[in-house]
Amino acid sequence: MAKKNRLFNIICSICVIFFIFLASAPLITLAIPTTQLIPLTPIVSKPVENEDLSAVLTETNAGLPVDISNKPEYDTFTYLERQVRKLPTNLPVTEPYYGDKIIYLTFDDGPDPENTPLILDILKENNIKATFFVLGTEIEKYPDLLKRIYAEGHAIGNHSYNHIYQKLYQSANTYIEQLHHTDDAVKSILNVRPHISRAPGGAAGNFTQAYWDVLENQGYIEVGWNISSGDASNAKADQILNNIMHQTTKNGFLWSHATLLMHDGKGHTETVKALPHIINFYKEHGFDFHVINSKTPPAW
Ligand SMILES: [Zn+2]
Repeated sequence: MAKKNRLFNIICSICVIFFIFLASAPLITLAIPTTQLIPLTPIVSKPVENEDLSAVLTETNAGLPVDISNKPEYDTFTYLERQVRKLPTNLPVTEPYYGDKIIYLTFDDGPDPENTPLILDILKENNIKATFFVLGTEIEKYPDLLKRIYAEGHAIGNHSYNHIYQKLYQSANTYIEQLHHTDDAVKSILNVRPHISRAPGGAAGNFTQAYWDVLENQGYIEVGWNISSGDASNAKADQILNNIMHQTTKNGFLWSHATLLMHDGKGHTETVKALPHIINFYKEHGFDFHVINSKTPPAW
């Protein structure tokens, strides 16, 4: 009987100890420093300025998936910097990306303090990206606009330094010197160099083979267009829209890479007015909006 009582007492003691432990558990928890109980605060990444929105070209040549085709590409070195470092200067051959209903919106001759911010606002409202072929003279005047274009994930291309045909098209050398001049200006503002360039007035009639050779040797991709907004000839917004709708529906075979020429330079307010309607037109027809990079097919 005494044995049974002892066993009973032991069991009771164990129960009491267990009960005290359970009852005090919340106190134990509270006694732990609160920093260990609060979940880790999510890391908020800093606003992207120079890196994440763009794929640096030297890092994108390793067979990355197709969806990278909608990212701007830049080089960390200019042509002359590559030469000094004895790095390759021409671009590797890449497969063009032909999609199903892809539109490349492009804007030449800016940035302009009146038009470019409005265009950027419209693009942002629609959550789409475009490509800006900038002039060296203008980015020197408006470096903050270039920074905004870059920070908002649009592609930047080289559109010569001063756009003065007589100076630009004297020879392949004078042409490439203007591209270098603009590259240096872009590099000093963004610390990257664009690879895409667009000849003022287009390559046709302005380029000889020597121009194409020097562009290739120095890692430039000349970008044309296959749909012209006609906004360079004082057209009103509705005429610009009509031009675009007509050429787009007529040239259905270009829907895999519709490359639309527009201007954001000084005076092109009608382009700004037309832009929301142009975007709606392409959205209604199921197009995706891409930026130009090394995977964009030649316009023709
Ligand atoms: Zn131009």
